[in-house]
Amino acid sequence: MAEVASQETEFAAFAFGSVIERRDELEGRPWISYPVRVVADTPELVAVYLSHGTLLTFGDGPFSWGPHPWGAFGDRWRSAGILQLHRPGRGHSVWVLRDAGTGAFREWYVNVEAPWRRTPTGFSTLDHEIDLVVPADSRTLRWKDVEKFEERARIGHFSPEEATAIRTEAADVARDIAAGEQWWDTSWSRWQPPAGWHALMQSFETEGS
Ligand SMILES: [Mg+2]
Repeated sequence: MAEVASQETEFAAFAFGSVIERRDELEGRPWISYPVRVVADTPELVAVYLSHGTLLTFGDGPFSWGPHPWGAFGDRWRSAGILQLHRPGRGHSVWVLRDAGTGAFREWYVNVEAPWRRTPTGFSTLDHEIDLVVPADSRTLRWKDVEKFEERARIGHFSPEEATAIRTEAADVARDIAAGEQWWDTSWSRWQPPAGWHALMQSFETEGS
Protein backbone atom coordinates (compact mmCIF):
# COMPACT_ATOMS: atom_id res chain seq x y z
CA MET A 1 0.00 0.00 0.00
CA ALA A 2 2.91 2.33 0.74
CA GLU A 3 3.99 1.90 -2.84
CA VAL A 4 0.55 2.92 -4.09
CA ALA A 5 0.59 6.02 -1.90
CA SER A 6 4.00 7.18 -3.11
CA GLN A 7 2.97 6.46 -6.69
CA GLU A 8 -0.12 8.65 -6.37
CA THR A 9 1.88 11.66 -5.24
CA GLU A 10 4.00 11.44 -8.38
CA PHE A 11 1.07 12.27 -10.63
CA ALA A 12 1.15 15.89 -11.66
CA ALA A 13 -2.05 17.86 -12.13
CA PHE A 14 -3.68 17.39 -15.50
CA ALA A 15 -3.47 20.43 -17.76
CA PHE A 16 -6.52 22.34 -18.99
CA GLY A 17 -7.91 20.69 -22.10
CA SER A 18 -6.09 17.41 -21.71
CA VAL A 19 -8.06 14.27 -22.44
CA ILE A 20 -8.23 11.88 -19.50
CA GLU A 21 -10.22 8.86 -18.40
CA ARG A 22 -13.17 9.16 -16.05
CA ARG A 23 -13.97 5.71 -14.74
CA ASP A 24 -16.35 3.95 -12.38
CA GLU A 25 -14.50 0.96 -11.02
CA LEU A 26 -16.28 -2.04 -9.51
CA GLU A 27 -14.66 -5.20 -8.17
CA GLY A 28 -11.27 -3.99 -9.37
CA ARG A 29 -12.36 -3.54 -12.98
CA PRO A 30 -13.82 -0.65 -14.97
CA TRP A 31 -17.62 -0.73 -14.87
CA ILE A 32 -17.87 2.22 -17.21
CA SER A 33 -15.08 4.38 -18.61
CA TYR A 34 -15.20 7.44 -20.84
CA PRO A 35 -12.85 10.19 -21.96
CA VAL A 36 -13.34 13.73 -20.67
CA ARG A 37 -11.45 17.00 -21.04
CA VAL A 38 -9.90 18.68 -18.01
CA VAL A 39 -11.33 22.08 -17.06
CA ALA A 40 -9.59 22.44 -13.67
CA ASP A 41 -7.31 20.26 -11.57
CA THR A 42 -6.40 21.96 -8.30
CA PRO A 43 -6.38 20.84 -4.65
CA GLU A 44 -9.81 22.48 -4.19
CA LEU A 45 -11.52 21.51 -7.41
CA VAL A 46 -11.35 18.98 -10.19
CA ALA A 47 -13.61 19.83 -13.11
CA VAL A 48 -13.98 17.74 -16.24
CA TYR A 49 -16.24 17.95 -19.27
CA LEU A 50 -18.04 15.07 -20.96
CA SER A 51 -18.88 16.09 -24.53
CA HIS A 52 -22.08 15.07 -26.29
CA GLY A 53 -21.52 12.03 -28.48
CA THR A 54 -18.51 10.74 -26.54
CA LEU A 55 -17.74 7.01 -26.59
CA LEU A 56 -18.72 5.09 -23.46
CA THR A 57 -16.81 1.88 -22.78
CA PHE A 58 -18.40 -0.70 -20.52
CA GLY A 59 -16.31 -3.22 -18.61
CA ASP A 60 -16.60 -6.92 -19.28
CA GLY A 61 -18.98 -8.55 -16.86
CA PRO A 62 -20.24 -10.18 -14.98
CA PHE A 63 -20.43 -7.68 -12.14
CA SER A 64 -22.26 -8.37 -8.90
CA TRP A 65 -24.16 -5.11 -9.51
CA GLY A 66 -25.04 -6.17 -13.07
CA PRO A 67 -24.12 -4.17 -16.17
CA HIS A 68 -23.78 -0.38 -15.88
CA PRO A 69 -27.25 1.16 -16.39
CA TRP A 70 -26.06 3.57 -19.10
CA GLY A 71 -25.35 0.55 -21.31
CA ALA A 72 -29.07 0.32 -22.05
CA PHE A 73 -28.77 3.51 -24.13
CA GLY A 74 -25.87 2.46 -26.34
CA ASP A 75 -22.19 3.33 -26.38
CA ARG A 76 -22.37 7.09 -26.94
CA TRP A 77 -23.27 9.90 -24.51
CA ARG A 78 -26.56 11.06 -26.06
CA SER A 79 -27.52 13.89 -23.72
CA ALA A 80 -26.13 17.41 -23.57
CA GLY A 81 -22.50 17.74 -22.54
CA ILE A 82 -21.90 17.65 -18.79
CA LEU A 83 -19.49 19.64 -16.66
CA GLN A 84 -18.62 17.58 -13.57
CA LEU A 85 -17.27 19.35 -10.47
CA HIS A 86 -15.52 17.41 -7.74
CA ARG A 87 -13.95 18.62 -4.52
CA PRO A 88 -11.04 16.25 -3.79
CA GLY A 89 -11.79 14.01 -0.84
CA ARG A 90 -15.57 14.49 -0.92
CA GLY A 91 -17.91 11.60 -1.70
CA HIS A 92 -19.88 13.22 -4.49
CA SER A 93 -19.54 15.25 -7.66
CA VAL A 94 -21.81 17.98 -8.94
CA TRP A 95 -22.96 17.77 -12.53
CA VAL A 96 -24.13 20.84 -14.44
CA LEU A 97 -27.05 19.51 -16.47
CA ARG A 98 -28.35 21.39 -19.51
CA ASP A 99 -31.42 21.02 -21.66
CA ALA A 100 -30.48 18.91 -24.69
CA GLY A 101 -32.52 21.10 -27.05
CA THR A 102 -31.87 24.65 -25.89
CA GLY A 103 -28.62 24.22 -23.97
CA ALA A 104 -30.14 26.16 -21.07
CA PHE A 105 -28.94 25.30 -17.58
CA ARG A 106 -31.47 22.87 -16.10
CA GLU A 107 -30.23 21.59 -12.76
CA TRP A 108 -27.39 20.72 -10.43
CA TYR A 109 -27.22 16.95 -10.22
CA VAL A 110 -25.30 15.83 -7.16
CA ASN A 111 -23.98 12.37 -7.93
CA VAL A 112 -23.04 10.67 -4.67
CA GLU A 113 -19.99 8.55 -5.45
CA ALA A 114 -16.62 7.51 -4.05
CA PRO A 115 -14.01 10.26 -3.67
CA TRP A 116 -12.19 10.47 -6.96
CA ARG A 117 -8.92 8.55 -6.98
CA ARG A 118 -6.21 9.82 -9.27
CA THR A 119 -4.87 7.21 -11.70
CA PRO A 120 -2.16 7.43 -14.38
CA THR A 121 -4.88 8.03 -16.99
CA GLY A 122 -7.39 10.15 -15.06
CA PHE A 123 -9.73 9.57 -12.16
CA SER A 124 -11.55 6.56 -10.77
CA THR A 125 -14.70 6.57 -8.64
CA LEU A 126 -17.77 4.42 -8.06
CA ASP A 127 -21.37 5.54 -8.14
CA HIS A 128 -23.09 5.32 -4.75
CA GLU A 129 -26.63 5.27 -6.13
CA ILE A 130 -28.12 8.21 -4.21
CA ASP A 131 -28.44 11.45 -6.18
CA LEU A 132 -29.70 14.91 -5.28
CA VAL A 133 -31.42 17.03 -7.91
CA VAL A 134 -31.50 20.80 -7.50
CA PRO A 135 -33.50 22.58 -10.22
CA ALA A 136 -32.09 25.77 -11.73
CA ASP A 137 -35.04 27.89 -10.69
CA SER A 138 -35.11 27.03 -7.02
CA ARG A 139 -33.22 25.71 -4.06
CA THR A 140 -35.72 22.92 -3.57
CA LEU A 141 -33.92 19.68 -3.56
CA ARG A 142 -35.13 16.25 -4.55
CA TRP A 143 -33.58 13.01 -3.35
CA LYS A 144 -33.32 10.34 -6.02
CA ASP A 145 -32.80 6.56 -5.86
CA VAL A 146 -32.66 6.33 -2.07
CA GLU A 147 -34.70 3.10 -2.20
CA LYS A 148 -32.30 1.60 -4.74
CA PHE A 149 -29.41 2.54 -2.49
CA GLU A 150 -31.05 1.00 0.57
CA GLU A 151 -31.70 -2.18 -1.38
CA ARG A 152 -28.02 -2.35 -2.39
CA ALA A 153 -27.03 -1.83 1.25
CA ARG A 154 -29.47 -4.54 2.34
CA ILE A 155 -28.07 -7.14 -0.03
CA GLY A 156 -24.47 -6.29 0.83
CA HIS A 157 -23.30 -4.18 -2.12
CA PHE A 158 -22.21 -1.70 0.52
CA SER A 159 -20.90 -2.69 3.94
CA PRO A 160 -22.79 -1.23 6.91
CA GLU A 161 -19.90 1.21 7.44
CA GLU A 162 -19.88 2.26 3.78
CA ALA A 163 -23.66 2.70 3.80
CA THR A 164 -23.48 4.92 6.87
CA ALA A 165 -20.76 7.06 5.29
CA ILE A 166 -22.77 7.40 2.06
CA ARG A 167 -25.95 8.44 3.91
CA THR A 168 -23.93 10.97 5.92
CA GLU A 169 -22.29 12.40 2.81
CA ALA A 170 -25.63 12.85 1.05
CA ALA A 171 -27.22 14.42 4.14
CA ASP A 172 -24.28 16.81 4.59
CA VAL A 173 -24.38 18.11 1.04
CA ALA A 174 -28.20 18.31 1.11
CA ARG A 175 -28.08 20.41 4.27
CA ASP A 176 -25.50 22.77 2.76
CA ILE A 177 -27.58 23.20 -0.40
CA ALA A 178 -30.74 23.89 1.62
CA ALA A 179 -28.84 26.54 3.58
CA GLY A 180 -27.50 28.12 0.37
CA GLU A 181 -23.99 27.13 1.43
CA GLN A 182 -23.05 24.72 -1.34
CA TRP A 183 -19.27 24.48 -1.72
CA TRP A 184 -19.13 25.09 -5.47
CA ASP A 185 -19.26 28.39 -7.28
CA THR A 186 -22.72 28.61 -8.84
CA SER A 187 -21.35 30.70 -11.72
CA TRP A 188 -20.26 27.33 -13.16
CA SER A 189 -23.85 27.12 -14.40
CA ARG A 190 -22.85 29.70 -17.04
CA TRP A 191 -19.63 27.99 -18.11
CA GLN A 192 -19.44 26.92 -21.71
CA PRO A 193 -16.87 24.59 -23.27
CA PRO A 194 -14.41 26.12 -25.71
CA ALA A 195 -15.22 25.73 -29.40
CA GLY A 196 -13.95 22.45 -30.74
CA TRP A 197 -14.50 20.35 -27.63
CA HIS A 198 -16.30 17.78 -29.74
CA ALA A 199 -17.06 14.13 -28.94
CA LEU A 200 -14.14 12.01 -27.82
CA MET A 201 -13.67 8.46 -29.04
CA GLN A 202 -10.76 7.17 -26.96
CA SER A 203 -11.10 4.05 -24.90
CA PHE A 204 -8.51 3.28 -22.26
CA GLU A 205 -6.80 0.10 -21.18
CA THR A 206 -9.38 -1.84 -19.26
CA GLU A 207 -7.32 -3.38 -16.48
CA GLY A 208 -7.65 -1.87 -13.02
CA SER A 209 -4.92 0.54 -11.94
MG1 LIG B 1 -25.67 8.40 -9.22
